[in-house]
Amino acid sequence: SKWVYFFGDGQAEGRADMKNLLGGKGANLAEMANLGIPVPAGFTITTEVCTYYYENGETYPSDLRQQVMDSVKAIETIMGATFGDAENPLLVSVRSGARTSMPGMMDTVLNLGLNDTTVQGLIARSGDARFAYDSYRRFVTMYSDVVLGVDHYHFEEILEAHKEDKGYTLDTEMTAEDWKTLVGIYKTKVKEQLGSEFPEDPVEQLWGAVGAVFGSWMNQRAKTYRRLHNIPGHWGTAVNVQAMVFGNMGEDCATGVCFTRDPSTGENAFYGEYLVNAQGEDVVAGIRTPQSISIAGRKKSGSDLPSMEETMPQTYTELVGIRDRLEKHYTDMQDMEFTIQKDKLWMLQTRNGKRTAAAALKIAVDTCNEGLIDKETAIMRVAPEQLDQLLHPMLDPDAPRKLLARGLPASPGAASGQVVFTADEAEDWVQKGHKVILVRVETSPEDIGGMHVSQGILTTRGGMTSHAAVVARGMGVPCVAGAGEIRVDANAKTMTVGGTVVKEGEIITLDGAKGEVFLGEVPTLQPELSGDFADLMEWADAVRRMKVRANAETPEDAATARKFGAEGIGLCRTEHMFFDPKRIIHIRQMILAEDEAGRRAALEHLLPYQRKDFVELFTIMQGLPITVRLLDPPLHEFLPHTDSEVGEVAKSAGVDVAEVKSRVSMLQEANPMLGHRGCRLGISYPEVYEMQARAIFEAAVEVSQTSGQTVLPEVMIPLVSSRRELELLRGLVDKVAKETFATKGTEIPYHVGTMIELPRACLQAGVIAEEAEFFSFGTNDLTQTTLGMSRDDSAPFLEVYAQKAIYPRDPFQSIDVDGVGEMVSIAAERGRATRPGIKLGICGEHGGDPSSIQFCEGVGLDYVSCSPYRVPIARLAAAQSVL
Ligand code: ADP
Ligand code: MG
Ligand code: MG
Repeated sequence: SKWVYFFGDGQAEGRADMKNLLGGKGANLAEMANLGIPVPAGFTITTEVCTYYYENGETYPSDLRQQVMDSVKAIETIMGATFGDAENPLLVSVRSGARTSMPGMMDTVLNLGLNDTTVQGLIARSGDARFAYDSYRRFVTMYSDVVLGVDHYHFEEILEAHKEDKGYTLDTEMTAEDWKTLVGIYKTKVKEQLGSEFPEDPVEQLWGAVGAVFGSWMNQRAKTYRRLHNIPGHWGTAVNVQAMVFGNMGEDCATGVCFTRDPSTGENAFYGEYLVNAQGEDVVAGIRTPQSISIAGRKKSGSDLPSMEETMPQTYTELVGIRDRLEKHYTDMQDMEFTIQKDKLWMLQTRNGKRTAAAALKIAVDTCNEGLIDKETAIMRVAPEQLDQLLHPMLDPDAPRKLLARGLPASPGAASGQVVFTADEAEDWVQKGHKVILVRVETSPEDIGGMHVSQGILTTRGGMTSHAAVVARGMGVPCVAGAGEIRVDANAKTMTVGGTVVKEGEIITLDGAKGEVFLGEVPTLQPELSGDFADLMEWADAVRRMKVRANAETPEDAATARKFGAEGIGLCRTEHMFFDPKRIIHIRQMILAEDEAGRRAALEHLLPYQRKDFVELFTIMQGLPITVRLLDPPLHEFLPHTDSEVGEVAKSAGVDVAEVKSRVSMLQEANPMLGHRGCRLGISYPEVYEMQARAIFEAAVEVSQTSGQTVLPEVMIPLVSSRRELELLRGLVDKVAKETFATKGTEIPYHVGTMIELPRACLQAGVIAEEAEFFSFGTNDLTQTTLGMSRDDSAPFLEVYAQKAIYPRDPFQSIDVDGVGEMVSIAAERGRATRPGIKLGICGEHGGDPSSIQFCEGVGLDYVSCSPYRVPIARLAAAQSVL
């Protein structure tokens, strides 16, 4: 079989749409080669080899070796150099590349093929001994670090000691002789660490690096990253082997990273950074401060270093040409890597660029308006989850603040939190309930876990394409990068700027959009929802089939929901209306009452409050449907717990303390989630539901009579498991409706339905539908009861479950399609068989989760309901799920 795909010299065996086989990097290198864009020749070992490797005890297919060596020959022919040759050596890079870029994977090894013999050839060909030994020492450190596992710091220590000896401060002061000496010392160090020699044979080096790439697929960092990003382990990675081009051969050489549009704002402006006389990751490593590629970029950054547009105008123009071609070709913003060797431009990578939410939105809308893509494509270009970042608060521009330092606006959004200095501490503190800002000199892939839990990230070194910046943007975590005035002392756990010392645990605020750091907490403001956002939402609304409602009970939440485009309330939890101090007293009286008469007396007090709530909601929702769920939680949740609370209740209810205490303990349940709650309360205390129904209908009549507005109440009975429960409670609701309408002289159309949140209800949905005019899937409880797994107790073991791929995703966040999903399908099918056109919705957490929304579309639900802030996310996800 074919395990290796070649590219180079204006053609390639692969294509951009072969990402699954070639990985993203390999597929796009092939595509660029096919487009005639200058790409150093190379080949891709497929992801199938990775799969084979893990399925066969970490061995390779028998015919792989020959294919690889043939491909090396093909590179040699194109490049006119020979791998391992003493006079004219071919050097290669070995680069990992999964389907999507993964920071956890093996770092690239550059300059592979160098040894004490071939370095002489490199000197002879380039006429530059310093360049050759600089390349050699880079190779030895990279290979030792990523392939042999000898940590980088060993080599840094040796370098620092050598510089001190010689009285140098900068690496640029190092001579050819210095680098040569270091290569020797480095190799001795490796031998000391490993007990074996650094490999001199280029072929052995090559296979070592290939093995390390496949090995890194299963390292802890990669596994963690995959888990956080829901990337399946069976995808595997490809390996790219590519002829080296050199950005470190002198002042007419450079290396850089650029974006066809600004990845931070989305603005249609060519954006990038580069370094003269540098190689590989120097730009992103933050060792030297990179320069802007364009004049506009230089001005914007306020840097006094000249731009590429000024120093290498011809190459810059060529790069702009490639930018235009690639963006047209891929019809999306590209993130490109390039190297200039002796004024010749080479492209080393292109991919759809990571971008902030704001940029994603702007680029989707702009490229659509420019005619590059159609509306449906634009809808697909924004990840629904990303919208979250745009819907959240920004710093209040008028709020007082104390500026501490400035850095680069690496990832937008505002965040406050307590300062911590390591990723591990970030995770510890967050576990203990703190909100933290992670402050580092720079970040590395080991820090991902800590970065993920932090409110914001602050680094003192590195540019807009540094690790911290790229990862933070991907995660949607605000980030200020390269705040160089700040000195971090990780040992003392302090950061110092000017005369101010900030200790661990003190609060700072980041403005990731401006790149500013403030002392203390700065208040925030709501975001702007017009412009591009409104346009994209309008396009999404035009294509989606499902309606989107919100879970809301307070007037504020209802107003937010409307602002975000909710088309009704899918879940109004009436118990939330009872916790107000003025009301809870009556609830408690009701619970403590000895008989029905006592309960009714207490409920009489609650009726006006509840009615007022509904009047407000009906008014705000202006004719949109509102699903009101009658009381659901067990009564003891409303009872006092501390002694002083007990005393207060006893006093106001006119009973003694002992009485209250005994009632509290009587109501205590061993497993309240499966106890006396939901419709069971309505069955044992019908007067409670009666009062609630009365409040709903009286409010409906009042709003209708005073404003003439349409009112659409939907009364929802929770936790039903049998038809008979619903029959009884529906009878009660209908009776109250009839009485109310008769007394008030107005009839309001209304519906009665049920939550479907127990497995029995799913199975019995056919008969339950005889009584129910609608079903709303309460997937929180349905998940708990179908899996037999308590949502409040499952976090510790679900983490282990995720690692072992038992439930690939937390079933409380994303619907368990195989189990809970099948329950929903069965219920939908049986419900429809009894009552064609029965209205079906979902109101659990899952109603705001994009992949669950996709599932809901598949089952044909009529609407999803989610928290107000997630309404736009759900609108977009609902649109995407029909495309
Ligand atoms: P990553 O996925 O971390 O970006 P890459 O494989 O893209 O890793 O390699 C990192 C950098 O190494 C590239 O940006 C490029 O500058 C440099 N590089 C990789 N291959 C070559 C090559 N063949 N010649 C010159 N530089 C290279
Ligand atoms: Mg890298
Ligand atoms: Mg790269």
